[in-house]
Amino acid sequence: MSGYLAGPPPERGIFCNRTLNLRAIKAIGYDMDYTLIHYKVEAWERRAYEYIRERLEAQGWPVGHLQFDPVLSIRGLIIDTEKGNLLKANRFGFVKKALHGTRPMDFDTQRTEYARTIIDLAEKRWMFLNTLFSLSEACIYAQLVDLLDAGKLPGPMGYADLYAIVRTTLDATHMAGKLKAEIIANPGLYVQPDPETPLALLDQRSAGKKLLLITNSEWTYTVPMMHAAFDPYLPKGMTWRELFDVVIVSARKPEFFTTRSPLFEVVETASGEGLLRPHSGPLKAGTPYFGGSALELERHLGMSGDEILYVGDHMFGDVHVTKNVLRWRTALILRELEEEVRAIAAFRATEAKLAEKMEAKERLEFEACQLRLEQQRRRLQYGPRTEQPEDQLLARLITLRTELEALDAELGPMARAASELSNPHWGLLTRAGNDKSHLARQVERYADIYTSRVSNFLFATPFVYLRSPRGSLPHDPNVPGGTPVFPTPDAPSTT
Ligand code: IMP
Ligand code: MG
Repeated sequence: MSGYLAGPPPERGIFCNRTLNLRAIKAIGYDMDYTLIHYKVEAWERRAYEYIRERLEAQGWPVGHLQFDPVLSIRGLIIDTEKGNLLKANRFGFVKKALHGTRPMDFDTQRTEYARTIIDLAEKRWMFLNTLFSLSEACIYAQLVDLLDAGKLPGPMGYADLYAIVRTTLDATHMAGKLKAEIIANPGLYVQPDPETPLALLDQRSAGKKLLLITNSEWTYTVPMMHAAFDPYLPKGMTWRELFDVVIVSARKPEFFTTRSPLFEVVETASGEGLLRPHSGPLKAGTPYFGGSALELERHLGMSGDEILYVGDHMFGDVHVTKNVLRWRTALILRELEEEVRAIAAFRATEAKLAEKMEAKERLEFEACQLRLEQQRRRLQYGPRTEQPEDQLLARLITLRTELEALDAELGPMARAASELSNPHWGLLTRAGNDKSHLARQVERYADIYTSRVSNFLFATPFVYLRSPRGSLPHDPNVPGGTPVFPTPDAPSTT
């Protein structure tokens, strides 16, 4: 019995922004790529990158020597297509870190470039890296910016033109069948299997939930991939098709959630190709569909938005739009969270030391501020003042300065290590300095819950009541770095 009561490891928890009672959810919709099926990111993205590089090389670009760098970018960064930069922003949209091309931007340049800028993703200048599929695009764009700066690309071309070319080339790579054919031919090289996912879905289905598969992938890709990822782990004789009440491929999310597009039935052929036939009327059980819209699906299910949970990995296409337009309940799959939670745990001892030193620094700064104010009031002869002799006051100020410098020397390496957790350029996905990152802000706004993988529902069960924690504010007591608790200074004596 104790096995049933063991909780998940911390990195496999389901984290809750808005309370969600899974019992009240009647249908769960799933995205496929990077949600139900997790890819070996480096292998997939390297291959996608190589296809982009080949296409550019075929146009005569000098890119043959370029190599995919898996740590150059992370999900949640923002490409500034006007300036050729890769940025990490905090929750307010302020730029906290920047690369120009592949080169780190120094603090002063960054300040000059971005001091007056607040990133608004609604402007087309900014491209948010929404999924793990974005890593190849960010990497090659940064490397091409270096080449453009070195005058090695055909001109005249600006940073925005260059981005448009990268985007079109990546789209073509995903759309042309070659890359996908390679993956279908050898799923083992690209798919990270998770035998617990099929069981988690089987639990949900057996608990009476309707399961929906809504993917942007084509039918010809969906079938072999779902087969490889699910069928070996389902009860004998069962296939992935029996898990889902509705299957929609080539869904064209986010338009699927916002626009009424025509719905087609996929007519399965012996070759597995799948022909399209326009569909009207109620959806038929067991028939896969192509296109359509969420409104049509809602009508078919006869459910309201708050009875449907949609689970996906695309920050905008799966989660933001779904929440904003339809008010469906939303879950974001963020696989990097596992590494993130582990890195934070491993850093805990240093973090505590850092917090302790920061508190010491704030106390010293507080005292230094008081002494400077005392000097100012003495000089200008106003307000309450102390009777401390002038030379003592000066000596104390000098000591404080020395102590602060010593503290800074200790704090520097610890703060640097904190900013390099998980990724040497960018640090943690969900943090920007001491603050939340732009990605973290979007997660809390649009994802009711977030978790590293679908199989974490296995631990939670289909009956879980997920409650959001009490949110903290800077004025709450005991928030690290929040309301400072300083000793009350001796009451100054008036002269
Ligand atoms: P989903 O996550 O199951 O909805 O499927 C994502 C699909 O979108 C996959 O078939 C990807 O190959 C495809 N995809 C991902 N990124 C891009 C892109 O930048 N351009 C075109 N297709 C993409
Ligand atoms: Mg996806």
